[in-house]
Amino acid sequence: MNSTKRNFTPILLAWFEEHERDLPWRRTYEPYHIWISEIMLQQTQMDRVVGFFSRFVERFPDIGCLAEAGEDELLKMWEGLGYYSRARNLHKSAKILATQGAALPESYQQLLQLPGIGPYTASAIMAIAFNRPHTVLDANVERLFARLLDLSKPVKEKETIALIRHQVEDLLPADQPRAFNQALMEFGALVCKPGIPNCGVCPFHVGCQALQAGTVGARPVLPKRKETILITMACGVVRRNGKFLIQKRQADDVWANLWEFPGGRLKEGEIPEQAVVREYLEETELCVEPMEKIATVQHAYMNYRVTLHGFFCDLLPDQGEPILHAAQEARWVEEGELADYAFPSGHRKLISCLQGVEQSQE
Ligand code: SF4
Repeated sequence: MNSTKRNFTPILLAWFEEHERDLPWRRTYEPYHIWISEIMLQQTQMDRVVGFFSRFVERFPDIGCLAEAGEDELLKMWEGLGYYSRARNLHKSAKILATQGAALPESYQQLLQLPGIGPYTASAIMAIAFNRPHTVLDANVERLFARLLDLSKPVKEKETIALIRHQVEDLLPADQPRAFNQALMEFGALVCKPGIPNCGVCPFHVGCQALQAGTVGARPVLPKRKETILITMACGVVRRNGKFLIQKRQADDVWANLWEFPGGRLKEGEIPEQAVVREYLEETELCVEPMEKIATVQHAYMNYRVTLHGFFCDLLPDQGEPILHAAQEARWVEEGELADYAFPSGHRKLISCLQGVEQSQE
């Protein structure tokens, strides 16, 4: 690294000029767009974010529109991106900003005051939206420097991060923080990639210490993955007078304020059908009988892997309206209206299976 340090920044910037991806938020560097893109990118891959971003800013073109949005509609726009607290925090921040002139502050400290904006996102907004000299260390940058410097310590350790930050600050050109930070992240994403990097086309290969030491495959040293937790759940789809029963989850629960079919986790020794009957009774005071399997779907959030069994259920005779114990609201909706509500991805997958099962019943 030392031998190439002097030339590193101009070579990197030249590479970026030639190879940067055409991303919608890069066309104007509008601070609102950078903010939305950074929040979306926090837990979602770039390829997925591009489509979501374009739809989002078309519907909510500025902070004022976002502040005035209804939360149900906002969550619906976010459906499929997951980690819905990001959307709720965007909403809260937009409402705060709407009372202060509806613009993002050009201040790291003030950005940190907004819900959902931590040090990383504040630095990214300062550097990319406002072209101010902040360093942005994402996983791509950490991986690149862990290899360039052949760092044998875990890349997420405080000392390692401090060392990388020091290097990046040293290389940061005062007049081009926007291009430089994006170039580093882009280079890590496209050339010094996870898994097998493209060392053959890398302009830094001569000074790359991991390449010289033959340790590229062992860099970066990552923290142990969290243990995967398997969960089995079951839910029931009940229809009365052609309408489906859905309920809105509590505001302080996982998947807060999203809609779902009543159901829950299996208890030890239960089969899915038994869990549906018990959960319905506990959550809605309705007695149901599972009739036909819709599908079993898998979905994941954080380190949880969920298997969800969905059943069409009949209501037993003389059942009234649901009395809710695990939700804030319930509605009976037409099948076509299910598309208007935001569901967790497992329930959304079940909905896409509903039609096939219904057709096979006809
Ligand atoms: S030589 Fe390979 S490992 Fe080293 S910085 Fe370049 S792409 Fe990454």
